[in-house]
Amino acid sequence: MLSETNEEYVVSRNACKLCTPLGASLAFKGIQGAIPLLHGSQGCSTYIRRYLISHFKEPVDVACSNFGEQTAIFGGEANLKVALDNIRCQYKPEFIGVATTCLSETIGDDVPGFIRKYLETNNPDEVPPIAQVPTPSYRGTHIDGFHGAVKAVVDVLAVQRERDTDQINIFPGMLSPADLRHLKGILSDFGAPFVMLPDYSQTLDGAPWTEYHRIPAGGTPVSDIARMGESTATLEFGRILARQNSAGKLLSQRHGRPCHSLGLPIGVNESDALFRAIELITGKPTPEKYVTERERLVDAYVDGHKYVMDARAVVYGEEDLVVGLVAFLSEIGITPVLCASGGKSGLLTETIQGVVPDHSEKGIRIMEGADFTAIEEAAQDLQPDLVIGHSKGYAMARRLNVPLVRVGFPIHDRVGGPRILHVGYGGAQQLFDRIVNTILEKRQETSAVGYSYM
Ligand code: SF4
Repeated sequence: MLSETNEEYVVSRNACKLCTPLGASLAFKGIQGAIPLLHGSQGCSTYIRRYLISHFKEPVDVACSNFGEQTAIFGGEANLKVALDNIRCQYKPEFIGVATTCLSETIGDDVPGFIRKYLETNNPDEVPPIAQVPTPSYRGTHIDGFHGAVKAVVDVLAVQRERDTDQINIFPGMLSPADLRHLKGILSDFGAPFVMLPDYSQTLDGAPWTEYHRIPAGGTPVSDIARMGESTATLEFGRILARQNSAGKLLSQRHGRPCHSLGLPIGVNESDALFRAIELITGKPTPEKYVTERERLVDAYVDGHKYVMDARAVVYGEEDLVVGLVAFLSEIGITPVLCASGGKSGLLTETIQGVVPDHSEKGIRIMEGADFTAIEEAAQDLQPDLVIGHSKGYAMARRLNVPLVRVGFPIHDRVGGPRILHVGYGGAQQLFDRIVNTILEKRQETSAVGYSYM
């Protein structure tokens, strides 16, 4: 089919990406006392809440400015004002994060102007800080919304530099709560003070309540974010993010402190890069605990190598997670025969080629801006042994008759999604064991002999 501009247009069939303001809402949930507010129709916030709740199994409030027919025609300024008033009255938030939706972006609402006017017409001592990020879902994916929200928060809040400190900023990206806890543990074990943004390790994976809380405990305090400009250095993860404007680079430009842009620390090599960077910043050696953890991991690679070598995997998800997983799979001997993402940064192919130098000999196929229908069509010819990605790929894995190893977000058909550990030597150990056992289980189940000893 040709569009009006005579470019080939293909509709998306079962998208391999999520809605952009979903990522922004998740990032805002990692700030202490925060409420995400979607400027748009109620259905958008309902969908996003449902998606987040199904994965995290926690209550998630996402406010909405509740567009109706009249708002869609005359603009949403009045609705946004009412929404901000209501949120302040009902939640007493310490921070409000505003993300737009497709509709408010399409009609061209001047959200920064609306917020400016709101701040001018209210007592500044009574209004919490407000950051806003444009998140039309027809441009970008959930990961763009996530990184855009983090950058918007830094832009509004991280303005202070009264002194210089030895604290480290860490922008972990869209990882699991278990990953965030693991990274915080590593920095604590180095004895390094740090500010992590966002930190939803407690707000979205907390303890049971005896009474209802409008806003769950946890998250990065606004006062800590304000002091990020005083840190000695910044760590951010994602080889693709490294080539884009990011919160880390904004801080670096504004306060002149180095930003270490690393790959997602999945596997030995990318985790080594993380530990080297922390050693460089702190001047301290890696704690013995992690040296031993690394040695155990390498030993496990040796023990399990004969079961995974030459296995073939299809990997999909958000671009930087795919790159991180491909780096890990390549070091354990699995060929990622198909690497796919719904993201359209235009950087995926080149970035994967950077982490797998012999990609052409291995015949690795890379698909950018792909949906699940296209991924499945491509996978059918490649005879994979397993599929690695989030739970939206389950139907494809089932039709391909190969097992799915669940990673990332969302995991809607299993419990424990928030507790999947991907990063560091500990994360690589867990991923490695799961992948080896998945391959073994498939071979055992399809064997003509019911063997019970390898
Ligand atoms: S209309 Fe746009 S912002 Fe709303 S749920 Fe759909 S894709 Fe997301």
